[in-house]
Amino acid sequence: MSLIVNLRQLENRNLELGGDLPALDLALDLRDDMIRATQPLHYELEVEMLDDSLLIQGRLRLKLECQCVRCLKDFEYELELDPWVLHLPLEPLEDEEAVPIKNDCVDLTPRVREDILLRFPQHPVCNPECGGLKKAKVGKALKTAGKEESKPSAWAELNKLKL
Ligand SMILES: [Zn+2]
Repeated sequence: MSLIVNLRQLENRNLELGGDLPALDLALDLRDDMIRATQPLHYELEVEMLDDSLLIQGRLRLKLECQCVRCLKDFEYELELDPWVLHLPLEPLEDEEAVPIKNDCVDLTPRVREDILLRFPQHPVCNPECGGLKKAKVGKALKTAGKEESKPSAWAELNKLKL
């Protein structure tokens, strides 16, 4: 199942669409290991027929499973496009953006996929304050390094006093 609008249903009135699009149908091409999308996309849309195009307004919501790039912890990220507005020219307009019409139907899925991917977090972080693994390790290393350095120098100071 895809997110399909039947133009016949739009002849006299606006069409309201609501539901869930399974992750398999949304088929996001994810090359990033830090983000997984296994849950369905939730949509609530109103579709309006204009002269040679469709106007779609509403919202999209998708829960992503992310891995924090700093601390590697798994966390859930809710991607929300609200409002989501799409102006969709229809065939046979001489427009690169025009979508094909098949059996009076238009498939919104490719455009939804495109816009969802554009809004993906670039570097998912579990929390803006996340210090991450690296920082914690570096901090510890600095502390121990400091101790090791201060020990001999303290002894050196004592030796100086004795002399
Ligand atoms: Zn984190």
